[in-house]
Amino acid sequence: MKRLISHQNLGWFSYWLKQTIDLIFPPRCAGCNVNGKVWCDDCNDRIIPPKGRSCSACGFPIEKGKLCLICEDWPNRIHVRSFAHYNKPLSSAILKLKYRSDQALADEMASWLVSVYHRTGWMADCVIPVPLADVRLRQRGYNQVTLIATSFAKELKLHLFTNALERMRETRSQVGLDSQERQVNVEGAFRADSRIVQGRSIVLIDDLLTSGATLKNCAIALLNAGAAQVFCLTVGRA
Ligand SMILES: [Zn+2]
Ligand SMILES: [Zn+2]
Repeated sequence: MKRLISHQNLGWFSYWLKQTIDLIFPPRCAGCNVNGKVWCDDCNDRIIPPKGRSCSACGFPIEKGKLCLICEDWPNRIHVRSFAHYNKPLSSAILKLKYRSDQALADEMASWLVSVYHRTGWMADCVIPVPLADVRLRQRGYNQVTLIATSFAKELKLHLFTNALERMRETRSQVGLDSQERQVNVEGAFRADSRIVQGRSIVLIDDLLTSGATLKNCAIALLNAGAAQVFCLTVGRA
């Protein structure tokens, strides 16, 4: 009897259950809404990877010089990479995850970030998601970035710390603010727990990089709390 409920059988059972649920309620593609998978092959082909003349640090396109505006402005121990440009259909997927907790979609995004991570040669020992403020987390019920970070950490067998970094205050939406206003808006908004991050090399995950103000402030809070290095990874880059 005991053998019937071994982990292996549970694994098969949850696999079977998922297949059955997918048959009855097929998932819809987060990019184009077609039935079948959380992310279809068509949408996958339409992802725009960074290419052309690029920043020597983050690999994103630039017009002139060696570094993009973000890398030029960031301290040496903060590095950044993004999976792709924030255009459709990728932007639809990022928005969808923001409004609906969908672990299968988050797993897909995590696999994209794992492929980026493998290309960088970074050596991190833990993963931290950019946090939401407590009020926002209670309203939404989940942090979409934590869904991605959980799957990412699991795949790379890295520690995941969801309480090492705290958003001290609710910041207003960054939409419509210029880069200086964005910086002021998030300055001092994050606090890191030095008991957790001391000496660690951290992958900091967010869904979208726009001006970089949020990531920069998170990374600085982590470095000030004793982190050795901060590697920022985002799904989209605006
Ligand atoms: Zn699609
Ligand atoms: Zn750059």
